[in-house]
Amino acid sequence: MKHTITLVKKEYLNKEVIKLSFNKHGLEWKSGQFGMFLLPISSDEIIRRAYSFSSCLKNKYLEIIVKRVRNGVGTGYLFDNFEENDTVETMLPFGHMTLQNNTQENIFVGVGIGITPLLGMIRELAFQGFPNKTTLYYGARHKADLIEQNELRKYEKEYNNFHYIVSLSRDEKTSNTLSGRILQHITEQDFSKHNMYICGSPEASQDIKDLLLSRKAVDTSIFKEAF
Ligand SMILES: Cc1cc2nc3c(=O)[nH]c(=O)nc-3n(C[C@H](O)[C@H](O)[C@H](O)COP(=O)(O)OP(=O)(O)OC[C@H]3O[C@@H](n4cnc5c(N)ncnc54)[C@H](O)[C@@H]3O)c2cc1C
Repeated sequence: MKHTITLVKKEYLNKEVIKLSFNKHGLEWKSGQFGMFLLPISSDEIIRRAYSFSSCLKNKYLEIIVKRVRNGVGTGYLFDNFEENDTVETMLPFGHMTLQNNTQENIFVGVGIGITPLLGMIRELAFQGFPNKTTLYYGARHKADLIEQNELRKYEKEYNNFHYIVSLSRDEKTSNTLSGRILQHITEQDFSKHNMYICGSPEASQDIKDLLLSRKAVDTSIFKEAF
């Protein structure tokens, strides 16, 4: 079913990434899921693009975070023609990567813009006070590419159960960021009792899944989205 939602806030998180906050209009989704947005790119053409929800249901807005794709038709529309108070049609919710309700340790691995669905899940866990040990591994190219750093660092300070590891593939190591691919910093050897959530490009997500499987992860406890 299609729903019409109104854009309340459009914010640039960096030159290439925008955060779009919509009125929730009573819509419901599970953290980690996505919506299919119907974008009217011209007077006679509507295209469908999927965007993960980076907010959880307890947040004030239904939020998506979009990275501009060079020559991208949908992102071109959202960056250049879609403004506050405009409406858009969306279908939701879709996706099977959702938080599992049990007491296992959580591992999140997000690469690049793949952090978006993980943010929704981390935010939900923050509302619960991180009941289980939770580690977020976040890989990006440069420091400027990192999204919602203040919020994630705040959770890291406030909750003993939340561990946050960042690695930048094209920047030098700093006091709180590592250097290189995030994969090489996942050093734990036994993932047999964890729930794992992965999102990044198809190649990166598969590499991460393979690594976890090679370290005793249970296939059915790995949840993966790729784009
Ligand atoms: C389940 C799901 C969830 C998603 N969630 C998000 C999200 O939260 N945030 C977000 O920004 N995007 C997300 N995406 C990607 C999004 O749906 C679009 O594919 C993306 O925004 C590009 O759309 P476009 O119309 O601008 O590009 P298009 O016009 O479709 O593509 C333009 C050109 O760029 C290439 N291209 C397309 N995508 C990429 C890419 N990612 N990297 C490099 N080249 C590319 C195409 O091959 C083409 O040549 C998600 C995709 C899926 C399937």
